[in-house]
Amino acid sequence: MSAKPIDLRELSKEEVTALVAELGEKPYRAKQVWEWLWKKHARSIDAMSDLSKAFREQLKERAVLRPLTLAEQQRSTDGTIKCAFRTWDGHIVEGVLIPTETRMTACISSQIGCSLTCAFCATGKLKRVRNLDAGEIVDQVVMIAALAQEHYRQPLTNIVYMGMGEPLLNYANTLRSAERINAEDGLGMSTRRITVSTAGIAKMIRKLADDDAKFNLALSLHAANDAKRDRIMPINEQNTLAELLDALRYYTRKTRKEVTFEYILFRDFNDSLEDAQELVRYCSTVHAKVNLIEYNPTDDGLFQRTEPGTAERFQRYLEGKGIIARIRRSRGRDIDAACGQLANKNQPALKEGERILKP
Ligand code: SAH
Repeated sequence: MSAKPIDLRELSKEEVTALVAELGEKPYRAKQVWEWLWKKHARSIDAMSDLSKAFREQLKERAVLRPLTLAEQQRSTDGTIKCAFRTWDGHIVEGVLIPTETRMTACISSQIGCSLTCAFCATGKLKRVRNLDAGEIVDQVVMIAALAQEHYRQPLTNIVYMGMGEPLLNYANTLRSAERINAEDGLGMSTRRITVSTAGIAKMIRKLADDDAKFNLALSLHAANDAKRDRIMPINEQNTLAELLDALRYYTRKTRKEVTFEYILFRDFNDSLEDAQELVRYCSTVHAKVNLIEYNPTDDGLFQRTEPGTAERFQRYLEGKGIIARIRRSRGRDIDAACGQLANKNQPALKEGERILKP
């Protein structure tokens, strides 16, 4: 019986170098392999065309490549494109291209499903199947960048880890993928353009600071009062607002970066003047700005969207207290591509022999 194959993209540069040496090849071959993996995005070992056939055969005996495939794409009337990606072991994850006047943003997933069960989020109703590996996270960026070129003739400007899953519960792969997206011998995108969004795991936020993670951090707050936050985000029971604030202050002090609070406005739940006051109090001791997010319905009717006038009053109140607050309009809602709507709705329709849908 042969040993379990090595997943080439799970290796560090040193490990690739060691493998290449073990197979009797010259050291510069390791650099070539590394570039095929992370810069030229080879989808198979056979595609590494400047390696000898014999070397490729040897590699294939020991190692595999497991790229995502684009199983389906749907385009919204506002230009947003939602992708369903299939993993090598047959699961589906979603990623989204969000074009605006000034940006081309890729919204990517970090896990297949999610373990957190936030009450307002469609992904929270799926089971967590497994973490995505760093290669699978980077694949989403590569394929969404290709769509940005194809449809809009533009490169990606921003990457947000706001698709399916909780990035800080897939910590190592989140950091490694961001490093590969940023690296010169990777995608070469600035860390200022990468944002990781978390539901709030205090221990991991501290770890980000200790590990000197360079990307931007967003925290899904949605309530500045524990009783309310407990009701919509079970993760709050082990990561209370006070603990999160401590961790965030540690993070902002150590990294000298500001954080972004995401706050979905739910009608008659967290959109009153009192809620705004609590939010101001919460923000006042940490270097933070606020994105007010329009709620996207997720079918179960538990929550409603705040009236536009109420949202504007809420924003003006924050701004009046010196807090930078912007209202983020929802995109891609008609195809369930907006925040919180990623739930593999089209999964049952997907078959072998991939379909590409272009409305
Ligand atoms: N687990 C991470 C990343 C995924 S969610 C996190 O919680 O941050 C990305 C953003 O979408 C979060 O701010 C999340 O709260 C928001 N979101 C989830 N469901 C939503 C919905 N129905 N309407 C609007 N935003 C939603």
